[in-house]
Amino acid sequence: MRVERVEAYTLREPITVPFRWRRGLPGSGTTQEVTWLRLVTDAGIDGWAPIGRGAIALDIIERRLKPLILGKNPLLKEALWHEVWEIDRIEEFPIYILGALDVALWDITAKAANLPLYLLLGGAREEIAAYASAVTFETLDEYLRCAKQCLDLGYRAIKLHAWGDARRDAQLCRELRRFVGDDIVLMYDGSAGFDPYDALYLGRALEDAGFYWYEEPLREFSIQQYRQLCQTLDIPILAAETSDGCHYNAADFIAFGAADMIRTSTHYKGGVTGALRIAHLADSFQMRAEVHGGGLLHVHLCMAIPNTTFYEALITGLPVENDPLVTNGMVHAPSLPGIGFETLIDPHRLASQAVARL
Ligand SMILES: [Mg+2]
Repeated sequence: MRVERVEAYTLREPITVPFRWRRGLPGSGTTQEVTWLRLVTDAGIDGWAPIGRGAIALDIIERRLKPLILGKNPLLKEALWHEVWEIDRIEEFPIYILGALDVALWDITAKAANLPLYLLLGGAREEIAAYASAVTFETLDEYLRCAKQCLDLGYRAIKLHAWGDARRDAQLCRELRRFVGDDIVLMYDGSAGFDPYDALYLGRALEDAGFYWYEEPLREFSIQQYRQLCQTLDIPILAAETSDGCHYNAADFIAFGAADMIRTSTHYKGGVTGALRIAHLADSFQMRAEVHGGGLLHVHLCMAIPNTTFYEALITGLPVENDPLVTNGMVHAPSLPGIGFETLIDPHRLASQAVARL
């Protein structure tokens, strides 16, 4: 099998419920650009991958990825994955580009095998619990209304992205625990909003409120600071979500005791190949590898990785609009061969609605 053609289509669409993180920090904006990468093979099988950017994605596909992949056997994923990282040394790709080619190659591979991707990757389960991952709201009342609506939808786990003010956030976490009772799993995501002093204060409050994990309290530049936090707190620290370097970097977080659980994803960790490397690395240390972010591709990861516990369903506003992949707080395994992106996109619509293309 050979890759005969590389196409890319950028769509620009309004975001119906814009959201934000912490105190006015950039969240969704009001429009969203997505570039769909399409690899066309001589076997009549296409591979698709979404990239959450426009012009920058087209530029890199045209200059770097297209020359790399044209005429190649798409099943040689390991070889191609390393070639992308080799080019990264010179080009310094944005982190979300590193896995784009790899995702499309796995889509082709799974279609060639006539299997849903998660079965090809191992097949760890056929359903998993989702947690409601709430964006930042203005008031305590809004958080509690959001929690109530999520519980009504069947969620048994909720994660907060709060204001980034350690004392106010600690109070919010106490109030939320009182509101939902002891049976609901609660997590907190700092989105790297704290310095080590406030991160420690808030971590102790989360321990008192019985939170399940404490995610990314600091920027992930300093392994030393994460190590200190892990040594001081009992609550599991979930880290290495946005740090560069895939499993090489995750290995240092683990080796230095700078994380209790490890983040993995396709979009920040080099596609399916990178995400799995991290998951298996963590497994060899009997650690969790929790999948960062939702969507169809991450459903496959959740079904393929035994040492993960939840699917992340983003809740972007009030009233709560549920993730369409979640039913009664659960996500189920996809059944189509490949990843199943064809359920989200129509090639004819892409061609006619694209604001830019290759
Ligand atoms: Mg996070």
